[in-house]
Amino acid sequence: MAKYTGPVCKLCRREGAKLFLKGDRCYGKRCAMEVNPLPPGQHGGARKKATPYSVQLREKQKAKRAYGLLEKQFHMYYVKAEKMRGVTGDNMFSLIERRLDNVVYRMGIGSSRAQSRQIVNHRHITVNGKPVDIPSYLVKKDDVIAVKESKRSKPIFEELKTMKISSLPKWLTFDPSSLTGQITALPTREDLDLSISEHMIVELYSK
Ligand code: SF4
Repeated sequence: MAKYTGPVCKLCRREGAKLFLKGDRCYGKRCAMEVNPLPPGQHGGARKKATPYSVQLREKQKAKRAYGLLEKQFHMYYVKAEKMRGVTGDNMFSLIERRLDNVVYRMGIGSSRAQSRQIVNHRHITVNGKPVDIPSYLVKKDDVIAVKESKRSKPIFEELKTMKISSLPKWLTFDPSSLTGQITALPTREDLDLSISEHMIVELYSK
């Protein structure tokens, strides 16, 4: 399936949940979910009977869209998670959270996952001192993630140096003055910032 290039707020309205795809705007009154939370389209407000399949499908779409992944990429995490020890749903989201673009977002370097992906793509990020431009790169415990030294004077990063950290997941640290963070533990199910019923996604994929 091709990459979605339409208005992202429609995706939140379709899933009936804030997916935080637009950075700062998501936290203000101009968020489309505050203005008109009904699903998009002429018959968006019409009641539709939910089936077990449709509920599972919506849950999968919500998670996939929140992380900005294509179906193939998202399914690949399920396949990998299934082969790992432990609970498949927990493993799946632990893997997705460890993506470098997500880590950059969770540290607050990018204001959305889409912007964070762009920052990684443009080679602005280093892992353990080496530039990495692969958004799907999986970070490991003790990895040091930083903004490349030669890019730190860019306005987008200058602003971050004075930023106050309000919420940071407990599995990582970030120091705005040095634009450097570290992975202190691997993320677990409890560390997700989205309300997702992962067991529904696993049920859908295991059919
Ligand atoms: Fe748009 Fe963000 Fe609100 Fe979603 S949460 S509707 S992306 S402003």
